[in-house]
Amino acid sequence: MTYDLIVVGGGIVGLATAHRFQEARPKLKLLLLEKEARLAAHQTGNNSGVLHSGLYYQPGSAKAQCAVQGLQQMLAFCRTHGIAHEQCGKIVVATTPEEVSRLDRLWERGHANGLQGLRRLSPAQIKEIEPHAAGLAALHVPQEGIVDYPAVCARLGELIRQAGGEIRLQTRLQRITPGATGWNLATTTGPLEAKFVVTCGGLHADRLVRASGQKPAATIIPFRGEYHQIKPDRQFLVRHLIYPVPDPKFPFLGVHFTRLVNGGVEAGPTPCWPLRARVTVGPPSTPGTWRNHFVFPDCGGFSPSIPACAAMKSGAPSPRPNSPARCNDSCRSFAPPTSPSAEPASARKPCCPPASSSRILILWRIAAFCMSSTPPPPPRRPPWPSAGASAPGCWIG
Ligand SMILES: Cc1cc2nc3c(=O)[nH]c(=O)nc-3n(C[C@H](O)[C@H](O)[C@H](O)COP(=O)(O)OP(=O)(O)OC[C@H]3O[C@@H](n4cnc5c(N)ncnc54)[C@H](O)[C@@H]3O)c2cc1C
Repeated sequence: MTYDLIVVGGGIVGLATAHRFQEARPKLKLLLLEKEARLAAHQTGNNSGVLHSGLYYQPGSAKAQCAVQGLQQMLAFCRTHGIAHEQCGKIVVATTPEEVSRLDRLWERGHANGLQGLRRLSPAQIKEIEPHAAGLAALHVPQEGIVDYPAVCARLGELIRQAGGEIRLQTRLQRITPGATGWNLATTTGPLEAKFVVTCGGLHADRLVRASGQKPAATIIPFRGEYHQIKPDRQFLVRHLIYPVPDPKFPFLGVHFTRLVNGGVEAGPTPCWPLRARVTVGPPSTPGTWRNHFVFPDCGGFSPSIPACAAMKSGAPSPRPNSPARCNDSCRSFAPPTSPSAEPASARKPCCPPASSSRILILWRIAAFCMSSTPPPPPRRPPWPSAGASAPGCWIG
């Protein structure tokens, strides 16, 4: 059988893409491939679970548009399908004069991106919202919240199946070649044919481009982010979401405190260097593969971050698994020690930092595409990104 469309990747981007295509073209013969045994097994099911509002992103950029529109769409989806979420709000706390000036820029960006209810907080006002946080100034972002992303993905999977789509787990795409009517796909569970293919491979996005015989416009640089659970008797110290002001030297939002929608509080992610497999989601002892080490030489954009990494300060990647103490140190400046539990929260993610602007474009082009309310018709060819286009900086967390 020849499918009309095969979507590769069972993270939120692949699932949302498949769902939108089905909404636009209900008769589509659609198949979604996922190499793992479950949906949302990678970034989507292991991230901070935060509903971002678009505070950080360059006004007018695809990322800002995705965040602002995506938040509204995600809230509507959660309400419709009864998925656990809460708009608890967050504060971004500046602890040095330099951070205060960066906070001013975030304030301008937040306004330009149309965030509602954005408020500057004095030290006393910080205490009203988060009694145990301290800083020179802060931003209160009431729109932000928390959500159960795995539940969102599970529901998207149900909707895809109910609409006649097929989801094949434990099926890894290996190669894509042009065929008589579209594309031939070699997979670990046998060959497939499709008129159109959309790849949404997350951290494997570049590999999937190579699997199609094309040269990727960017290479993914893997980082692993680790989270620590706050001990139950200290969780009262964090009421909402508490973030530091991100350091533009790093692609991360910084170690933050996140209340989880299903209970508990985490601190993280403390980024580690990618000396383990980029594909690994699991405890720190999970072994890597040599193949993943060879990603270094062709990582344009990685080298500038190496001196910065050497600084080993808050938010900088560490070459070793992160200890609770290091995590605590990262947060100490804006919140009191919270006694993270001795073990990192299990099954945490590899992260995909930007370093190369075009890499981010890969991910966000796809995201922008799947979040627009009226998706364009399927393209004649899978939509590979073009090289050289500029993109806004990316912050992860
Ligand atoms: C540390 C960290 C924290 C974050 N925190 C937040 C947050 O709080 N809020 C937020 O909105 N965003 C957050 N993000 C970003 C968000 O998690 C990602 O943007 C999003 O999950 C990306 O979804 P995806 O579907 O592209 O990738 P993924 O979720 O990684 O999914 C890609 C899927 O493709 C599959 N795949 C890859 N190759 C193949 C193949 N060859 N064959 C078959 N399947 C394949 C993989 O197995 C995987 O399941 C965070 C990201 C990181 C790294």
